[in-house]
Amino acid sequence: QSAQEKGILAGLNPQQQEAVTAKTGPVIVIAGPGTGKTRTLVHRIAWLIGDQGIAPHQITAVTFTNKAAMEIRQRVAKLLNKVEGIEELTVGTFHSICLDILRSCRRQSPTNHRDFSELLELTVLDEADSREVLEEVLREKGRRGHQEGLKVLKRISFLKSRGILPSSPEVPADLNPIYTAYQERLGEYRALDYDDILLQTVNLFERLEKENVPELQHIRSRFTHLLVDEFQDVNPVQYKLVRLWAGKGKNLFVIGDPNQAIYGFRGADYRFFKKLKDDFPGAQIFKLTLNYRSTPTIIRAASAVVAKNSENNFISGLESTIVATKTKGPKIIHLQVPSEMAEGIAIVKEIGRMVGGTTMLQAHDQPSGASERTWSFSDIAVLFRTGRQSETLEECFLKEGIPYRIVGRESFLEEQPVRETLAFFRCVIQPEDDFHLYRCLGRGRFDLGREGIALVRETARKMNCSAWKAITELTEGGRASGTALTDRLLAFRNALEKYRSLIKTELPSKILAHWIEENNLGQIQAMDRLLQVASRFSDLPAFLHRIVLAQEADYERMGNNKASVETVSLMTLHAAKGLEFPVVFIAGVEDGLIPLTERKTSTAKEDTLAEERRLFYVGLTRAKDMLILLSARNRARFGSKASSCCSPFVREIPPDCLEQKSWVEQVNQKNVNSNPKFKQLSLF
Ligand code: ATP
Ligand code: MG
Repeated sequence: QSAQEKGILAGLNPQQQEAVTAKTGPVIVIAGPGTGKTRTLVHRIAWLIGDQGIAPHQITAVTFTNKAAMEIRQRVAKLLNKVEGIEELTVGTFHSICLDILRSCRRQSPTNHRDFSELLELTVLDEADSREVLEEVLREKGRRGHQEGLKVLKRISFLKSRGILPSSPEVPADLNPIYTAYQERLGEYRALDYDDILLQTVNLFERLEKENVPELQHIRSRFTHLLVDEFQDVNPVQYKLVRLWAGKGKNLFVIGDPNQAIYGFRGADYRFFKKLKDDFPGAQIFKLTLNYRSTPTIIRAASAVVAKNSENNFISGLESTIVATKTKGPKIIHLQVPSEMAEGIAIVKEIGRMVGGTTMLQAHDQPSGASERTWSFSDIAVLFRTGRQSETLEECFLKEGIPYRIVGRESFLEEQPVRETLAFFRCVIQPEDDFHLYRCLGRGRFDLGREGIALVRETARKMNCSAWKAITELTEGGRASGTALTDRLLAFRNALEKYRSLIKTELPSKILAHWIEENNLGQIQAMDRLLQVASRFSDLPAFLHRIVLAQEADYERMGNNKASVETVSLMTLHAAKGLEFPVVFIAGVEDGLIPLTERKTSTAKEDTLAEERRLFYVGLTRAKDMLILLSARNRARFGSKASSCCSPFVREIPPDCLEQKSWVEQVNQKNVNSNPKFKQLSLF
């Protein structure tokens, strides 16, 4: 081993070292949670660059969130300390990598992409935008756009994630006309939705491959070495991309855990592990069995739960191979509370005590490393099944004054002033973006009214040009001047041009602050949130691109902690994927939430049930030392208060791993640290 290699392999066990240094690919690493999969991927990249002399620009790593991408990049850089060209390493989500490719391809050869040839930038629609397009289409077909929009969009997206186009016989008859019209409308706007970003990239690669253009070599070189984390959650289109990018697969390296597949509802399929093995018969499979994260109790409990999924084919029994490196730990607490509010209070009270050094939940007869230490806020996470649960929790954190951060996409982005602002600035960086331009002209400050919009559309149609060109034409040389309509068009044109020149010199936060003042939006909280996000970016296009592609786990908002960096993390089980915390609370461990059912009376179907179980497994395995499950006996759901039962998954945990507690009892026994602020909350 060279000195360089020794450094890169330090801190890895022999199994991990073998995977990191595997020579002929493809390499498949299948292993349970906390066994160091992500760590292995990071070291593999460092080894490729530092030991094998691969240039960073020849390496692409795919992660599930932009945040994870940033972290991996930093960890690689740290392992290698200063390697030339390290910034040319590609790490990102499928979507961000694909969008990059589409953009760079256009810059290089606009003629190759006739569909969008006159555009410099791509118009990407976020989920709310896509939904607006779909609702428009639904309404034109005499359907109730608003009620149906989200549901229909999910169905269409599911088909697209499997590469099923409107022309395919696989499209259900009832969906066919809507899906067709939706795609046509996107085409008219020359816009892509999330799924299109991937589909267009597949098209591009297939076309370039067929035409055998020299450009392909150039794009391909970025994928000389391809690494994919969380491979259990790739969907069919993403799998196709992996195949296209990896070529013969000589340097393909994928890692994941089929037991942690939680995006089946969006078209992902963990069986691609099996497919990959069949597609590349020479693939080497590595297993990592040592778990460095959790206590033996947590591992035993989680494994017992996930083992109830019978369908696991070629990976069956993976969970039983996990061996804990930790030697001791307390039992898992199962705390029953009377209500959702009591749950929130119990959590914040307990967190307050833990950080103060006295935990009330800790079983006293248990030998444990856990009870001997004190915790800081950032050691603790509160996980839940649905985003909505964060509301009550947040209320409790605010009342108790405990610093927290909420991870997840948020409603402020859906609010009208924010959407109008973002639409306007999308037009600023890309005036040919018809979709957002018409959005600007259809409401808010620049509202042109029906007649005005019709005029712009008509002009654009006649001139066969973009709406922006039509506006320029309509306002040129004072044509039709003096009318109220032209004045409005001119106002829009002037504003757009003014901000276009501002973006050349000013920071996004400054530009946005100017806009807020100009439009009297200072009182709107959502705008303040947008400003906070913008202040983290140094150029406006980067800010807008980032916001459109952000995954749920990429968003976070701070509460109670303007100054402090120590915060409790609140997030959904989905957003917690890949993360770990010394102390984990899982709230709402109740039938109907875990597993989640759509209606009060329904029960989950077999495959959804299996996925819900895996999601619970992901939650359990985020904990390093202490795990607390909470079930409320009453919770408002489906618009009314109802009694609820504990999750059936709790019964799958071996009883000796669990300690049952009831919150009322606790309060009566020891009424420690009662915060006067809480008197305002009436409990029982
Ligand atoms: P998940 O399935 O949840 O994504 P993972 O398999 O990716 O988990 P990592 O997050 O890479 O696991 O590692 C889990 C923890 O174990 C991390 O804190 C990591 O630093 C630690 N770890 C991994 N390998 C080793 C090792 N060889 N020695 C010490 N600690 C390790
Ligand atoms: Mg990981």
